[in-house]
Amino acid sequence: MNKTKIIATIGPSSKNKETLKEMFLNGMNVIRLNLSHSTHDFSRQIIKNVREINKELNVHIGIMMDLTGPDIRVGSFKNGKAKLNKGSKVKIYMADIEGDETKFSVSYPNLINDIKCNDCVKLDDGKIELVVLDKNSEYLLCEVKNNGVVKNHKSLNVPGIKFSRSFLSPKDIEDINFANEMDIDFLSLSYVGCHQDILEVRKMLKDLNNDHIQLIAKIENENSLDDIDEIIRVCDGVMVARGDLGVEIPMERVPGIQKMLITKCHTAGKISIVATEMLASMENVIRPTRAEVSDVANAVLDGADTIMLSGETTIGKYPVETINMMSRIASVAETDINYLDLLDKTMRTEKQDITGSISYSVVECANRLKCSAIIATTKTGYTARKISRFRPNCPIIALTPNERTIRALTLSFGIYGKFVDEMQNFDDIMKNAYKVSKEKLNLGSGDKIIITGGYPLEIVKSTNFMKIDQL
Ligand code: PEP
Repeated sequence: MNKTKIIATIGPSSKNKETLKEMFLNGMNVIRLNLSHSTHDFSRQIIKNVREINKELNVHIGIMMDLTGPDIRVGSFKNGKAKLNKGSKVKIYMADIEGDETKFSVSYPNLINDIKCNDCVKLDDGKIELVVLDKNSEYLLCEVKNNGVVKNHKSLNVPGIKFSRSFLSPKDIEDINFANEMDIDFLSLSYVGCHQDILEVRKMLKDLNNDHIQLIAKIENENSLDDIDEIIRVCDGVMVARGDLGVEIPMERVPGIQKMLITKCHTAGKISIVATEMLASMENVIRPTRAEVSDVANAVLDGADTIMLSGETTIGKYPVETINMMSRIASVAETDINYLDLLDKTMRTEKQDITGSISYSVVECANRLKCSAIIATTKTGYTARKISRFRPNCPIIALTPNERTIRALTLSFGIYGKFVDEMQNFDDIMKNAYKVSKEKLNLGSGDKIIITGGYPLEIVKSTNFMKIDQL
């Protein structure tokens, strides 16, 4: 049972139920529906498939939707594409026109007001760079800095730009309503620029009476890095969205930022997700490169909660094999994590309260006694998350009477939820703990477990007890 969680983005390669089931059986914990590419009908069908698998296997695969956010795309070209030549001039029109080698249009008409002369414009994930020479009310005049072919609707980035438009587009608002309707677990927000963007989504969910969808801030530009502490404070987790981040800032800065974000999230007790191109070569071949293996392992060693696949599972030839490979790499890397060091570091930043002290003691004992599991009773997931933050060497089983809590924990390091009926007393807690140890973890005579939670149930709000047991 891996502690590092895996998200797989779903697309044509992975949409059918049997493939999704195999992906789960090989280590996938959460599916991601990227609403920039997936329609509501497609997403609805995938969610139906996932919920059927959850029922059939009695499991809890989490569901994430990814909002398009304030992205900018180029328009359409004659024949679907155009070759741009180094040194030539190209006009970017705000009105919709058919593009060619000398001109094309853009999906955000106010770009003309937000952009300045000498700003850099990057097309198709940075493959082609332009520089703005001049502008008037109709178009931007740009110089092409390198040769390349641009196709219909490819991305357009302007590093460092501050948009005058509001964070949520009409499409995003429709998508949030859809996410609420589908009762999903996580919403990842593209191109977050500041913490107010997250609060805007939070408010919209609150107005919809939705208090459970967790918000993941995708960090993919310099603006979000400028406000990172506040962003981490108000979100539930952060995604190191290395694809767009590597376009918006020099890509050589991405590894350092990845480490910084994982550490900040860990300190704040928030989820960290490392995303994009982790096993990119497996889109086409069945074996990854050694560098990709190292990349996955290093994300685990840095302390990420979750690692994510995109193209590998949406359009790749080997979605199941890629999950299997990622899971194998994570499993071995986890044996090299310096758990002692993480425990020490976490303790130094922990609040000196009862829950923090008990959680620390639980993990300290679990590591020292080489326990096989920590079993935590939890309603909201708070206790299990607290323990996860101390990074125990063994799995944490969250016993909860709340299905939503189980799904909400699917991205957190080391935590696996187990549904139980409402527990009435300490005997119920112990019975459930033994049952799950045997049935879910296959533990037997001699194995040590730690049971923890808050008692008396319903009265105490903190985590206040721990019991060490040898089966
Ligand atoms: C990214 O840019 O790395 C990312 C995860 O975003 P998306 O896949 O939505 O483009």
